[in-house]
Amino acid sequence: MTQEDILRHQVAAVSLILVAENILGYSGHVSVRLPGTDRFLIQPVDQSRAGLRPEHLLVCGMDGKSQSSNRARPPSEVFIHTEIFRERPDVNAIAHFHHDLTTTFTLAEGAKLQPIKNHAVRWESGIPTHGDPSHVSSPELGQSLAKTLGPHHAALIRAHGQVVVAENLPALLSDCVHFTENATALYHASILGKVMPLTPTEMDAFRDDFKRDSHATKLWLYFVGKSLSSGVLPADWNGILLPASD
Ligand SMILES: [Zn+2]
Repeated sequence: MTQEDILRHQVAAVSLILVAENILGYSGHVSVRLPGTDRFLIQPVDQSRAGLRPEHLLVCGMDGKSQSSNRARPPSEVFIHTEIFRERPDVNAIAHFHHDLTTTFTLAEGAKLQPIKNHAVRWESGIPTHGDPSHVSSPELGQSLAKTLGPHHAALIRAHGQVVVAENLPALLSDCVHFTENATALYHASILGKVMPLTPTEMDAFRDDFKRDSHATKLWLYFVGKSLSSGVLPADWNGILLPASD
Protein backbone atom coordinates (compact mmCIF):
# COMPACT_ATOMS: atom_id res chain seq x y z
CA MET A 1 0.00 0.00 0.00
CA THR A 2 1.42 3.39 -1.00
CA GLN A 3 1.50 6.51 1.15
CA GLU A 4 -1.14 8.00 -1.17
CA ASP A 5 -3.40 4.98 -0.58
CA ILE A 6 -3.10 5.44 3.18
CA LEU A 7 -3.86 9.17 2.88
CA ARG A 8 -6.88 8.39 0.69
CA HIS A 9 -8.26 6.14 3.43
CA GLN A 10 -7.50 8.77 6.07
CA VAL A 11 -9.29 11.58 4.17
CA ALA A 12 -12.31 9.35 3.61
CA ALA A 13 -12.28 8.25 7.27
CA VAL A 14 -12.01 11.81 8.64
CA SER A 15 -14.85 12.93 6.35
CA LEU A 16 -17.11 10.04 7.39
CA ILE A 17 -16.32 10.54 11.10
CA LEU A 18 -17.01 14.29 10.87
CA VAL A 19 -20.35 13.50 9.20
CA ALA A 20 -21.18 11.00 11.96
CA GLU A 21 -20.29 13.65 14.58
CA ASN A 22 -22.53 16.24 12.86
CA ILE A 23 -19.60 18.53 12.15
CA LEU A 24 -19.44 18.02 8.37
CA GLY A 25 -22.79 18.05 6.57
CA TYR A 26 -24.06 17.94 3.03
CA SER A 27 -21.39 20.47 2.03
CA GLY A 28 -17.78 20.99 3.05
CA HIS A 29 -14.61 19.03 2.45
CA VAL A 30 -11.37 17.65 3.87
CA SER A 31 -8.06 17.77 2.01
CA VAL A 32 -4.51 16.57 2.53
CA ARG A 33 -1.30 17.63 0.83
CA LEU A 34 0.54 14.84 -0.95
CA PRO A 35 3.93 14.95 0.79
CA GLY A 36 6.73 16.56 -1.18
CA THR A 37 4.44 17.74 -3.99
CA ASP A 38 2.28 20.73 -4.90
CA ARG A 39 -0.78 18.49 -5.16
CA PHE A 40 -3.46 17.43 -2.72
CA LEU A 41 -6.38 15.01 -2.33
CA ILE A 42 -9.95 16.31 -2.13
CA GLN A 43 -13.38 14.86 -2.78
CA PRO A 44 -15.41 15.55 -5.94
CA VAL A 45 -18.10 18.24 -5.88
CA ASP A 46 -21.02 15.86 -6.33
CA GLN A 47 -19.91 13.03 -4.05
CA SER A 48 -21.94 12.60 -0.85
CA ARG A 49 -19.77 13.14 2.22
CA ALA A 50 -21.68 10.34 3.89
CA GLY A 51 -20.60 7.78 1.29
CA LEU A 52 -17.06 8.92 0.54
CA ARG A 53 -14.57 6.20 -0.37
CA PRO A 54 -10.79 6.42 -0.98
CA GLU A 55 -11.13 5.83 -4.72
CA HIS A 56 -13.48 8.82 -5.09
CA LEU A 57 -10.79 11.32 -4.13
CA LEU A 58 -9.27 13.56 -6.77
CA VAL A 59 -5.66 14.64 -7.05
CA CYS A 60 -5.72 18.41 -7.50
CA GLY A 61 -3.03 20.88 -8.43
CA MET A 62 -2.57 24.33 -6.93
CA ASP A 63 -4.59 25.73 -9.84
CA GLY A 64 -7.63 24.00 -8.35
CA LYS A 65 -7.97 21.63 -11.29
CA SER A 66 -8.24 17.87 -11.06
CA GLN A 67 -5.31 15.86 -12.37
CA SER A 68 -7.20 12.60 -12.02
CA SER A 69 -8.20 10.70 -15.13
CA ASN A 70 -11.93 10.54 -14.37
CA ARG A 71 -14.31 13.36 -15.25
CA ALA A 72 -15.27 14.29 -11.71
CA ARG A 73 -14.81 17.94 -10.75
CA PRO A 74 -13.37 19.35 -7.51
CA PRO A 75 -15.68 21.33 -5.18
CA SER A 76 -16.38 24.92 -6.21
CA GLU A 77 -14.64 26.06 -3.01
CA VAL A 78 -11.43 24.16 -3.82
CA PHE A 79 -9.66 27.55 -3.69
CA ILE A 80 -9.91 27.53 0.11
CA HIS A 81 -7.48 24.62 -0.05
CA THR A 82 -5.19 25.80 -2.88
CA GLU A 83 -4.59 29.21 -1.37
CA ILE A 84 -4.09 28.06 2.23
CA PHE A 85 -1.70 25.27 1.14
CA ARG A 86 0.17 27.85 -0.92
CA GLU A 87 0.45 30.37 1.92
CA ARG A 88 1.04 27.94 4.78
CA PRO A 89 3.79 25.34 4.29
CA ASP A 90 3.18 24.20 7.89
CA VAL A 91 -0.36 23.12 6.97
CA ASN A 92 -0.84 19.65 5.46
CA ALA A 93 -4.53 19.05 6.16
CA ILE A 94 -7.55 21.36 5.88
CA ALA A 95 -11.23 21.00 6.76
CA HIS A 96 -13.95 23.37 5.60
CA PHE A 97 -17.39 22.83 7.08
CA HIS A 98 -20.60 24.66 7.94
CA HIS A 99 -21.31 23.87 11.58
CA ASP A 100 -24.44 25.87 12.35
CA LEU A 101 -23.92 26.57 16.03
CA THR A 102 -20.32 27.67 15.45
CA THR A 103 -21.47 29.92 12.60
CA THR A 104 -23.85 31.74 14.97
CA PHE A 105 -20.80 33.47 16.47
CA THR A 106 -20.58 35.43 13.20
CA LEU A 107 -24.26 36.37 13.20
CA ALA A 108 -24.83 38.22 16.48
CA GLU A 109 -23.40 41.66 17.17
CA GLY A 110 -20.77 41.52 19.90
CA ALA A 111 -20.48 37.72 19.87
CA LYS A 112 -16.87 36.56 19.93
CA LEU A 113 -15.62 32.99 19.64
CA GLN A 114 -12.81 32.61 22.15
CA PRO A 115 -11.07 29.72 23.92
CA ILE A 116 -13.16 28.67 26.90
CA LYS A 117 -12.30 24.95 27.17
CA ASN A 118 -8.80 23.68 27.86
CA HIS A 119 -8.18 22.08 24.44
CA ALA A 120 -9.14 25.35 22.78
CA VAL A 121 -5.72 26.66 23.78
CA ARG A 122 -4.88 25.61 20.21
CA TRP A 123 -6.60 28.82 19.10
CA GLU A 124 -5.12 31.17 21.69
CA SER A 125 -3.55 33.29 18.93
CA GLY A 126 -7.05 34.19 17.79
CA ILE A 127 -9.92 32.99 15.63
CA PRO A 128 -10.34 35.63 12.91
CA THR A 129 -13.66 36.14 11.14
CA HIS A 130 -13.59 36.54 7.37
CA GLY A 131 -16.12 39.23 6.57
CA ASP A 132 -17.04 38.08 3.07
CA PRO A 133 -19.74 35.36 3.27
CA SER A 134 -19.36 34.42 -0.41
CA HIS A 135 -18.59 30.94 -1.61
CA VAL A 136 -14.81 30.81 -2.01
CA SER A 137 -15.08 30.01 -5.70
CA SER A 138 -12.08 31.81 -7.21
CA PRO A 139 -8.34 32.05 -6.50
CA GLU A 140 -8.82 35.69 -5.51
CA LEU A 141 -11.48 34.83 -2.93
CA GLY A 142 -9.25 32.03 -1.65
CA GLN A 143 -6.30 34.40 -1.31
CA SER A 144 -8.47 36.81 0.65
CA LEU A 145 -9.53 34.04 3.05
CA ALA A 146 -5.93 32.83 3.43
CA LYS A 147 -4.97 36.41 4.30
CA THR A 148 -7.68 36.53 6.98
CA LEU A 149 -6.49 33.20 8.40
CA GLY A 150 -2.90 34.51 8.50
CA PRO A 151 -0.77 32.47 10.93
CA HIS A 152 -3.78 31.23 12.92
CA HIS A 153 -5.14 27.67 13.04
CA ALA A 154 -8.82 28.33 12.34
CA ALA A 155 -11.06 31.03 10.91
CA LEU A 156 -14.77 31.73 10.76
CA ILE A 157 -16.41 32.81 7.52
CA ARG A 158 -19.28 35.19 8.27
CA ALA A 159 -22.74 33.67 7.78
CA HIS A 160 -21.11 30.70 6.06
CA GLY A 161 -18.81 28.33 7.97
CA GLN A 162 -15.37 27.49 9.28
CA VAL A 163 -11.86 26.52 8.21
CA VAL A 164 -9.60 24.45 10.46
CA VAL A 165 -5.98 23.65 9.53
CA ALA A 166 -3.46 21.20 10.96
CA GLU A 167 -0.21 19.38 10.33
CA ASN A 168 -1.78 16.00 9.53
CA LEU A 169 -5.17 14.28 9.34
CA PRO A 170 -5.35 12.79 12.87
CA ALA A 171 -4.51 16.23 14.31
CA LEU A 172 -7.10 17.81 12.01
CA LEU A 173 -9.80 15.43 13.26
CA SER A 174 -8.92 16.21 16.87
CA ASP A 175 -8.94 19.95 16.15
CA CYS A 176 -12.33 19.87 14.39
CA VAL A 177 -13.85 18.03 17.36
CA HIS A 178 -12.37 20.45 19.90
CA PHE A 179 -13.16 23.53 17.81
CA THR A 180 -16.87 22.75 17.69
CA GLU A 181 -16.87 21.52 21.33
CA ASN A 182 -15.47 24.89 22.38
CA ALA A 183 -18.05 26.85 20.39
CA THR A 184 -20.87 24.73 21.83
CA ALA A 185 -19.54 25.15 25.38
CA LEU A 186 -19.21 28.90 24.96
CA TYR A 187 -22.73 29.15 23.57
CA HIS A 188 -24.17 27.23 26.52
CA ALA A 189 -22.09 29.08 29.10
CA SER A 190 -23.24 32.42 27.73
CA ILE A 191 -26.84 31.35 28.36
CA LEU A 192 -26.06 30.32 31.94
CA GLY A 193 -24.27 33.51 32.95
CA LYS A 194 -21.17 35.65 32.62
CA VAL A 195 -18.59 33.81 30.53
CA MET A 196 -15.26 33.08 32.18
CA PRO A 197 -12.70 32.31 29.43
CA LEU A 198 -9.36 30.70 30.15
CA THR A 199 -6.86 33.17 31.53
CA PRO A 200 -3.44 33.57 29.87
CA THR A 201 -1.86 31.84 32.89
CA GLU A 202 -4.23 28.89 32.59
CA MET A 203 -3.57 28.64 28.86
CA ASP A 204 0.19 28.68 29.47
CA ALA A 205 -0.07 25.90 32.04
CA PHE A 206 -2.25 23.69 29.85
CA ARG A 207 -0.16 24.22 26.73
CA ASP A 208 3.09 23.48 28.54
CA ASP A 209 1.72 20.19 29.82
CA PHE A 210 -0.06 19.18 26.61
CA LYS A 211 1.27 16.50 24.25
CA ARG A 212 -0.42 17.28 20.95
CA ASP A 213 0.74 14.20 19.02
CA SER A 214 -0.31 11.68 21.64
CA HIS A 215 -3.63 13.47 22.19
CA ALA A 216 -4.38 13.39 18.45
CA THR A 217 -3.51 9.67 18.42
CA LYS A 218 -5.86 9.06 21.36
CA LEU A 219 -8.78 10.72 19.57
CA TRP A 220 -7.87 8.94 16.32
CA LEU A 221 -8.02 5.55 18.06
CA TYR A 222 -11.31 6.49 19.74
CA PHE A 223 -13.15 7.83 16.69
CA VAL A 224 -11.80 5.28 14.21
CA GLY A 225 -12.55 2.43 16.62
CA LYS A 226 -16.04 3.76 17.33
CA SER A 227 -16.74 4.20 13.63
CA LEU A 228 -15.48 0.73 12.73
CA SER A 229 -17.72 -0.75 15.43
CA SER A 230 -20.79 1.16 14.31
CA GLY A 231 -20.25 0.49 10.61
CA VAL A 232 -19.59 4.15 9.73
CA LEU A 233 -16.21 2.92 8.43
CA PRO A 234 -15.89 -0.34 6.45
CA ALA A 235 -14.42 -3.11 8.59
CA ASP A 236 -11.63 -3.84 6.13
CA TRP A 237 -10.15 -0.35 6.69
CA ASN A 238 -9.13 -1.48 10.18
CA GLY A 239 -5.64 -2.60 9.23
CA ILE A 240 -5.01 0.57 7.24
CA LEU A 241 -6.23 3.14 9.76
CA LEU A 242 -5.18 1.50 13.02
CA PRO A 243 -1.63 0.40 13.82
CA ALA A 244 -1.16 -3.32 14.40
CA SER A 245 -0.84 -4.16 18.09
CA ASP A 246 1.89 -6.61 19.03
ZN1 LIG B 1 -18.47 26.66 2.31
